[in-house]
Amino acid sequence: MASVVQGKHKRFVTMEQKDEEKTCCICGMRFTGHGYNPYPVKESGECCRQCNYEVVVPERYRRHLEYQKSKENE
Ligand SMILES: [Zn+2]
Repeated sequence: MASVVQGKHKRFVTMEQKDEEKTCCICGMRFTGHGYNPYPVKESGECCRQCNYEVVVPERYRRHLEYQKSKENE
């Protein structure tokens, strides 16, 4: 993440980069670019950024809290 300035003159090149089109395994939307790990919502596939932040991350957090709770009850 340190080399943001480096990409300044490569803007047009970046546009031509062929991004593989992926299908989000949660909402079914097609997206390009970085896919996110949908675990624990889905065991396989990739999800889009929006689902990652709106579905996957809250679910992970919820499970984390549950795990903490179960440890307290021991
Ligand atoms: Zn999605």
